[in-house]
Amino acid sequence: MSEWCQNKKCPQKKTSGQIRGSKGAKYYQSNKASTWLGHWCSNGCRDTWWQDNKDTCIQAVGFIDKQVLPLEDAWYVEYKYGYNLDESNRYHLINRLKGISRVITKQQAQTPEQQAEEYGSWQTIDDTQAKELAITLGLAS
Ligand SMILES: [Zn+2]
Repeated sequence: MSEWCQNKKCPQKKTSGQIRGSKGAKYYQSNKASTWLGHWCSNGCRDTWWQDNKDTCIQAVGFIDKQVLPLEDAWYVEYKYGYNLDESNRYHLINRLKGISRVITKQQAQTPEQQAEEYGSWQTIDDTQAKELAITLGLAS
């Protein structure tokens, strides 16, 4: 880790905050890396770094082949927004590959922890739990 922006061209931004040194010997320096971006001071510097280094990165990570998500693993739970929707009609267990969209209860759509959260209506179980629910409801095996 470095505390400095990793874009080599960061000083070329020439912002007043980057000026250091005394009269006659002034220079621009890199910004500090931001805490939210990690290694760069800005999205612009991150983009520049990515353009310079993406080939090295992908070689280091390695290339993968096409990925697929089969029909039996394509379950998910969706919370539908909208003020005009009835509360009993907000949670759906969906598998578009099977052409299924089934209304489920809040109790089925959420974990006990999610149900306990005061403003957590939008939260739903993950896709693995959604598949288990589909099996429980006899929609999958
Ligand atoms: Zn920078």
